[in-house]
Amino acid sequence: MLQLSFVGQMIGSLGLGALIVMGYGLVLRHFSGKWYEDYASAVVLACGALAAMTNPIVLESGYIFDARAVFIALAGPFAGPGGAVLVAACTVLPRIMIGGDGVTAGVAGIIIAAGAGIIFNWLFPNKRTPAGFLLLGCLAALMVLSLFMLEFHTALTLMESIGFTLTLVNILGIVLLGSALEATKRNADYLRDVEFNAERDPLTGLYNRRALGQFEGSLGQSVSPDKRHGCVVLFDIDRFKSVNDRFGHARGDEVLQRVAATVTSRMRRSDFVVRFGGEEIAVVLLSTSVDDAYRIAEHIRALVEKLVFAHEGETFTVTVSAGIAAFTVGETKLEEAFDYADRALYQAKNAGRNRTKILSVPVSRAAAARANA
Ligand code: GH3
Ligand code: MG
Ligand code: MG
Repeated sequence: MLQLSFVGQMIGSLGLGALIVMGYGLVLRHFSGKWYEDYASAVVLACGALAAMTNPIVLESGYIFDARAVFIALAGPFAGPGGAVLVAACTVLPRIMIGGDGVTAGVAGIIIAAGAGIIFNWLFPNKRTPAGFLLLGCLAALMVLSLFMLEFHTALTLMESIGFTLTLVNILGIVLLGSALEATKRNADYLRDVEFNAERDPLTGLYNRRALGQFEGSLGQSVSPDKRHGCVVLFDIDRFKSVNDRFGHARGDEVLQRVAATVTSRMRRSDFVVRFGGEEIAVVLLSTSVDDAYRIAEHIRALVEKLVFAHEGETFTVTVSAGIAAFTVGETKLEEAFDYADRALYQAKNAGRNRTKILSVPVSRAAAARANA
């Protein structure tokens, strides 16, 4: 009869498990960064453990059993060691407040379950398979030993009556919920990869032209004054064709990657760096004057000049030319600034390369753009 109520509770907890899986999916979707993701996941799992504790099977005064261990043990693999400690702390406190003869055993059980999750995550960080979760379940099942913190005879009676079923129910719960959480994580990772790749250039990791379109749209909609003006800087590697011809396409790719990394290294979070064409990299510097943009472009140009590339015992260097034009949302379109930055770049090339030129969008063009806006 008692065993049956455990099985019944397990089935009841499946609904709770489904809610927790959904909550975990939301966390993965909306939190980025390991730290935020871990602690937000810990909060979700702690909610699961606490909700399980509101639905206990009370044996005698003080001896309560529920599905909390499932959520606590899974905190190690899905919320990291810090998250597991947080989940344990969130469940220990209410367990102490509930009180009764089983408090010490209850607290010990929580610590064993959390410890099992932490150790499992440490020893087998990549074993997120049903077999792996079975192993975690077996480790967490050691929590049944916490019963022996009670008076020996009571412990033995409890072991005989519920020990086996409790262990089985917890192991099964950990395998089922662990597998569901892992499937959610894989889906979220896959979606992130797809989204990332859709707007990135695979060679340099910079944004692609499609992302530039979205960025342009977001500028138009922004009401923040910081996002309403700035400069476009267009870099183009000088005589890049001859780099490919002399050292091969693969070395050319390496040059592109290192030049892209050099440009990115000087950028702020708000700046937008895009692979604009084959060996052209464009940067949108928000809230930046033409003079500041010139200083930044010249600094990057000097850094690129210092890069040294090696090829079959030979070394070589490259240079870049840059063109700059300013824009103001509502007055000069970003598209127009790109056009003028391109013309400035052309002037830099004609003037002998390895230099930066600025070109202002004529007032008449800006006025026409304003009239069309
Ligand atoms: P300029 O100084 O006038 O810019 O001369 P350039 O040789 O750099 O310009 P051009 O437009 O004649 O040649 C650009 C070269 O860039 C040609 C093309 O093969 C090369 N290129 C474009 N994309 C890639 C790429 O992804 N990898 C490599 N290795 N080369 C590329
Ligand atoms: Mg070039
Ligand atoms: Mg070019």
